[in-house]
Amino acid sequence: MRDLAPKEPPTPSPMPSLAKPFCNHLKALSLLIGGLGNLGFSSHPIAEPLAIKEVANGVYVHQGSHLLPNPQNHGEIANIGFVVGNHCVAVIDTGGSQEQGQRLKAAITTTTEVPICYVINTHVHPDHIYGNRAFKSPGVEFVGHYRLAAAMAMRAPYYLVQAKDQLGLTLNAEDFVPPDLEVRDTLDLDLGGRTLHLIAHPKAHTDNDLSIFDTASETLWLGDLLFMGHVPVIDGSLLGWLKTIDQLPSITAKRVIPGHGPITALWPLALAGEKRYLESLAHDIRAAQKANKTIEQAMNEIGQEHRADWQLFDDFHRRNIASGFAELEWEDPSPEPPMKNPGRSNP
Ligand SMILES: [Zn+2]
Repeated sequence: MRDLAPKEPPTPSPMPSLAKPFCNHLKALSLLIGGLGNLGFSSHPIAEPLAIKEVANGVYVHQGSHLLPNPQNHGEIANIGFVVGNHCVAVIDTGGSQEQGQRLKAAITTTTEVPICYVINTHVHPDHIYGNRAFKSPGVEFVGHYRLAAAMAMRAPYYLVQAKDQLGLTLNAEDFVPPDLEVRDTLDLDLGGRTLHLIAHPKAHTDNDLSIFDTASETLWLGDLLFMGHVPVIDGSLLGWLKTIDQLPSITAKRVIPGHGPITALWPLALAGEKRYLESLAHDIRAAQKANKTIEQAMNEIGQEHRADWQLFDDFHRRNIASGFAELEWEDPSPEPPMKNPGRSNP
């Protein structure tokens, strides 16, 4: 099956014919003693495979943690993973650093010999795209929302500085791999025996959110259109996100994978907490504006009752109010608020 799609030349392996469990044992041993590369077995250091879980047949997810991106975790905080078909693997988000991308790639090659054909980015945020470069090779097509390339280009100068200051990562322009395949409306990717149905959404969490539905397992990947546990972060449109949340349940799925939260959740029940929070925010901001309150008053007063429901609440809630306040001020007559600074690390 490996020959059905082009693939990069295989990395030299010290013992390619060995059974995988034994290879895994060797890899673990190599980590203890400094890596096989250092012993002269291979010129390529072997990345430690990322911990993954098979949540449905051929669907693998690595669970992120609810942490702020920092130099210790390098922003490796999002749920990322891959789907294995008969002749193609599709990666869904690549992680918060090139190293995490390499570890995800190691997890894929440890799991299957089927080649990687697609790397799908659910949106522009660093914790979802900074592993992209690890996958760049002939035969791999990058896939994203039609607005993703513009978002990458606009944010790259700021993100490069932020990566160094906040994450301790030295990046350059090549780390932002824009999509080869852009999704304007919908796009189907045939992996062999299963199809991924991609939808490009209007402005919601960001202006470049993509969802992925796997037909074989009826698993829905929502990226950061769905936050669970980690407080939702608005970097697109509060009202647009609420509209998307109302439309998403028309997708019939057996399970959903959020961008941040448990690796799978019940569908569409999983949307309830995020919907409640965002609806309450919109309601309270409108009330504050009707009462002629300032943005500072709104930021101090609104939504404190939600604090116990969400992790990282104090890190993002006030900014969500500021973002929603600016948007709703423009609710009528103009539906498009002015472009804002992308701000600090957005998950
Ligand atoms: Zn995000």
